[in-house]
Order: sequence, then C-alpha cells, then structure tokens
Amino acid sequence: MPKYIYSVAAGCCFCQECQYVCPVSAITMDAAGAHIDPAKCIGCGKCANNCASEAIVRVQG
Ligand code: SF4
Ligand code: SF4
Repeated sequence: MPKYIYSVAAGCCFCQECQYVCPVSAITMDAAGAHIDPAKCIGCGKCANNCASEAIVRVQG
C-alpha cells in the first residue's frame, strides 16, 4: 500500500486553518505559506478538507 501524504501547492492565503486542525502538528508557516513536514504527516486529510483556498493536495509519499 502506498503511503499518501499531503502537500501545499499554490494559492495558500496564510489563514493557518490547516495548522489548527492538524492532529500531529506537521504544518508550519514560512514566507511562502504553509509547509507540511512529510515525515510527520499521517495522511488524515483534515488540512485539505479545511483549506478554504483548496491549496492542499494529496501526494504519494
Ligand atoms: S488552510 Fe490552506 S490557505 Fe490556510 S494556511 Fe493552510 S494551506 Fe494556506
Ligand atoms: S493530512 Fe492530516 S496529518 Fe497530514 S498535514 Fe494534513 S492534517 Fe496534518
């Protein structure tokens, strides 16, 4: 089974909603927007489901 993780693509509006909902604190903010640590992400999808900008995409880890 491939492991799916999530990644921030273009369009992040810096709302930080993804940070609030991530259960494993995998998301940090930098000058480019949100960044997901692939080593921490468990692939739950909560960040993508709560991103109003639809900036978060599922990728194969
Ligand atoms: S929820 Fe989406 S728009 Fe908001 S900080 Fe996270 S990636 Fe950016
Ligand atoms: S998919 Fe889940 S674990 Fe991974 S960054 Fe998003 S909220 Fe956090």
